[in-house]
Amino acid sequence: MENTDFSKVLELLASPQTILLTTHTNPDGDAIGSSLAFFWYLSRKGHTVFMMVPDPFPSFLAWLPGAEKILVFSREKEQCLRAIAEATVIFSLDYNGLDRLRDACEPVQQSKAIKIILDHHLYPANDYDMAISVVDTSSTCELIFDFIRAMGDEKLIDRTIAESLYTGIVTDTGSFSYSCNYVKTYEVTAALFKCGIDGEHIHRLIYGTYSEYRLRLLGYSLSDKLVVLPEFHTAYIYLSADDLERFQYQIGDTEGVVNYALSIEGINLAALFSERDHSIRISFRSKGNFSVDRFARDHFNGGGHANASGATSYISMEETVQKFRELLPQYREDLS
Ligand code: 5GP
Ligand code: MN
Repeated sequence: MENTDFSKVLELLASPQTILLTTHTNPDGDAIGSSLAFFWYLSRKGHTVFMMVPDPFPSFLAWLPGAEKILVFSREKEQCLRAIAEATVIFSLDYNGLDRLRDACEPVQQSKAIKIILDHHLYPANDYDMAISVVDTSSTCELIFDFIRAMGDEKLIDRTIAESLYTGIVTDTGSFSYSCNYVKTYEVTAALFKCGIDGEHIHRLIYGTYSEYRLRLLGYSLSDKLVVLPEFHTAYIYLSADDLERFQYQIGDTEGVVNYALSIEGINLAALFSERDHSIRISFRSKGNFSVDRFARDHFNGGGHANASGATSYISMEETVQKFRELLPQYREDLS
């Protein structure tokens, strides 16, 4: 259920708390941007604040002020468990259920802290004591801006906070190319520019810092590993562990690759399958009315947004791709 009412959370944060900000596995720009913006804001308000991610985030987000303070559960388990134990309040930022914390899920679940979701994904889980869940917004970063404004603290948004918020908005809208038809998103963006951010510089830091390997992996993905199925208006790319190793894969290197498959005229569904240690990571994207949230949820135990979702498959690459292809005929009409 959507809940756009901030009042209970505002009331709770009126007194100093020890707050743990958590975000989802494979953290993206909105996950890291919302964590850092909220971190700086809540710290300034006199709270004690920790940030935790389940696993490492891409290097193109490492320039964000405070990124080095983010605890990584897979790397710094003891420190993370201590932060979980100390927290009186735990926020879920930019994800809709504790199962997306991977190995950090159980300790967070067992914590007695007040659990609050602040997110824009569909179908928030019932894991929470309080919920701010708004689907019709560009990003969690936009929601953080709304929250700070609702606290009457817009004046506390300085350049550091504004850079983090802008990063989340830019990355979650594909540089204002999807989830970007809300007038308010531009009003918030304008307010961030008034804080003195340099949009061109931020764009270069996020999108203009590819390694040569990353760019060549993109080229190889498009030339050798793209499959187009015009009869189902579908295209997909599949990358094996060997492919990734050949191009010295670093976290974040496949970010955005799926969008190229969707950019073909007439293609309404795109998927990227990439092999990880013991699983296949899937990204789904769609144009128009075909809900990849529904598709990921129904068939791959995943989810996300109507036009951008993800999932993890625990069968082989071959079986995963075969399963995907075998599902398409039943959606022939929806995909046309
Ligand atoms: P991406 O393909 O960029 O990893 O994810 C696209 C969107 O779907 C993001 O908003 C992400 O948070 C969400 N998402 C990705 N994987 C999952 C998943 O396994 N479960 C759920 N509920 N959401 C996911
Ligand atoms: Mn987001």
